Amino acid sequence: MSEADTKNSEDTRDFIREIIRADLDAGKHDGVVTRFPPEPNGYLHIGHAKSICLNFSIAQEFGGRCHLRFDDTNPAKEEQEYVDSIQKDVRWLGFDWGDNLFFASDYFDQLYAWAVQLVKAGKAYVDDLSADEIRAHRGTLTEPGKNSPYRDRSIEENLNLFQRMRAGEFEDGARVLRAKIDMASGNMNLRDPVMYRIVHESHPRTGDAWCIYPTYDFTHGQSDAIEHITHSICTLEFEDHRPLYDWYLDNIDAPSRPRQYEFSRLNVSHTIVSKRYLRQLVEEGHVRGWDDPRMPTISGMRRRGLPAAALRDFAKRVGVTKSNNVIEVALLDHCAREYLNKKALRRMAVLDPLKVVIENYPEGQSEELDAVNNPEDAAAGKRKVSFGREIYIERSDFMEDAPRKFFRLAPGREVRLRYAYFVTCTDVIKNDAGEVVELRCTYDPETRGGNSPDGRKVKGTLHWVSAAHAVPAEVRLYDHLFSRADPGADGNFLDDVDAESLSVLEGCLLEPALAEAKAGKAVQFERQGYFCVDPDSTPEKLVFNRTVALRDKWAKIQAKGGGGKK
Ligand code: ATP
Ligand code: MG
Repeated sequence: MSEADTKNSEDTRDFIREIIRADLDAGKHDGVVTRFPPEPNGYLHIGHAKSICLNFSIAQEFGGRCHLRFDDTNPAKEEQEYVDSIQKDVRWLGFDWGDNLFFASDYFDQLYAWAVQLVKAGKAYVDDLSADEIRAHRGTLTEPGKNSPYRDRSIEENLNLFQRMRAGEFEDGARVLRAKIDMASGNMNLRDPVMYRIVHESHPRTGDAWCIYPTYDFTHGQSDAIEHITHSICTLEFEDHRPLYDWYLDNIDAPSRPRQYEFSRLNVSHTIVSKRYLRQLVEEGHVRGWDDPRMPTISGMRRRGLPAAALRDFAKRVGVTKSNNVIEVALLDHCAREYLNKKALRRMAVLDPLKVVIENYPEGQSEELDAVNNPEDAAAGKRKVSFGREIYIERSDFMEDAPRKFFRLAPGREVRLRYAYFVTCTDVIKNDAGEVVELRCTYDPETRGGNSPDGRKVKGTLHWVSAAHAVPAEVRLYDHLFSRADPGADGNFLDDVDAESLSVLEGCLLEPALAEAKAGKAVQFERQGYFCVDPDSTPEKLVFNRTVALRDKWAKIQAKGGGGKK
């Protein structure tokens, strides 16, 4: 068992859980309420998975609840497709929001009322400056901003204009509502932030009821307050927004007083975690869709066969901190292997078949041999595999001119066929181009089941399939979508897309049991890796995805400059 698996929830310690424990001990709250607040403008990615795991696990551990709230304040970019996919992904990850499904758009009336409250208190004003002018007036980190000439409008005029903004009298961008805070503040977010924009756009949920929409900052904290969120956990880029989060809540009659806490975003090597860039990959056709198995989206990882439990384990292991760092994508693969090793049924599949004829095996004969389903799990039982005179082995398991440490098949060498027999290569048949097209072998009938009768040892054990029984399949192998660990670091991230990150293998041959494999259920192809059925499969054609490779010992030896003398 891994360290992560043996940890139970009480052992999970990080600064956010410490804060929550302290708050509960001090009697600040009766219970814990968190939320996961996606904007429905794309599919969820691995970074969101971390946030989901954090928010929902905290709620579970402290006996509280976690809300799923769509932050749907930007009708131009948001779609129902994303709302649906997000719900599916959160459920698949293993979390349940129960009745607590909310939409920020449900609060539009209340938010508007609070905006009016701020206008009436002289704390918000309608500004006629254009977006560019507002930007120019904002100042810089070293220089204070300038007040807008419209900043000192009377409350009556502001109320009148804000109502007319809402009534649809003005064009997009003609006016905004701004909070009146401090144009000289050292925190740029407090330099009279925009609260409402005019956007004549139908909203997926509120239709044409509104033509003004609140900004993220004017929505988020208030939504938290309405839902009685106790701990509003977000990523570090919102740290500088916290004073504004607090300012709004302090200046309206908020129904509760949530607090915001920030942790560092998850960054993963060879990966991009930004919905904007992921959308670009999809829309420009660099990948086959949001759920392309190379995508770091939850739907892509699911399609690739990554188990939800492995993703949860990954999220737990990367932990929660305030320092920005990059997690090696290899850790995710490691979590997947560790989980799948325990759960996945073993099967034999030959991806690059080389025909082998066993000359002393009677023609027309076949037999069924016992094969173990999962050596890590006795309860998984056994299955039968058919054996016959003609089989296929992996082309890479044969070498004509083999070095000493190549423990596989070579002329004159003996190997074990897994669960079957010892075979010795007696002849190599080539085509006119000099390529090996077939091997001739003899088998030792005394070694049935792959057991040695006389203590004779063979170093190699190969997987194989029976030519008469095998089923064909397409197998898709995936590499990192990006060739460099830090895509985009030297320019456009699209230039770092690895055109060879997908290899499609046709003509692979599988043991027949694999024809019954279920979509989304992982299997181990012995000696190769973990695979799962892709939804592109049809009754005529099976398609498998490689979730993650097993570590290849031979590749390691070669990488070390090895192989040894012949
Ligand atoms: P993106 O930059 O990919 O568009 P976002 O933050 O704009 O992400 P939201 O839908 O607003 O996307 O995010 C929902 C929640 O997920 C937020 O609380 C956000 O902080 C969190 N989140 C987003 N990306 C990450 C990440 N890389 N690591 C951890 N949490 C993240
Ligand atoms: Mg966001």
